[in-house]
Amino acid sequence: MDKNRLVVEFGSDARNESVARVVVAAMMTRINPTLCEVEDVKTAVSEAVTNAVIHGYRGGQGTIYLELTADLEERILTVAVKDRGVGIADVKQAMEPMFTTDPEGERSGMGFSFMEAFMDQVEVESQPNHGTLVTMKKFIGR
Ligand code: ATP
Ligand code: MG
Repeated sequence: MDKNRLVVEFGSDARNESVARVVVAAMMTRINPTLCEVEDVKTAVSEAVTNAVIHGYRGGQGTIYLELTADLEERILTVAVKDRGVGIADVKQAMEPMFTTDPEGERSGMGFSFMEAFMDQVEVESQPNHGTLVTMKKFIGR
């Protein structure tokens, strides 16, 4: 494996969101980010992991895959958050600001909007009944 790559698998549980935030912050120090850039990435990762826990696995059991790649020369951090949960039928609609499939609950439908605001690139691939892959890039120092 590439020496600047880190892969973590963890169980679907809301409490693991804080672990994912710490892991991503630690890996990111390799490309000398500002505190602000670290906060941005932690927020985006936290939204993606929360989505995997509550939507992907609907609060039940499952594995969440976190893959980090640090490009030291270009100063780009790539973060992938993957679940093998229920998937998303219409990704374009899901990514619209304020769209949520849980309007009765406490969700505001802003998770993807935050990811897009705090990261430089966000791509979502999903297949119903197979799961969801969110790949995000942060360009450091730009
Ligand atoms: P908020 O993030 O503001 O609490 P939300 O989670 O509903 O609300 P988004 O994070 O923008 O809003 O996600 C929009 C919708 O996309 C969700 O309501 C859900 O239907 C779907 N979704 C997002 N991530 C996943 C996932 N990993 N698996 C299945 N569905 C997902
Ligand atoms: Mg969300």
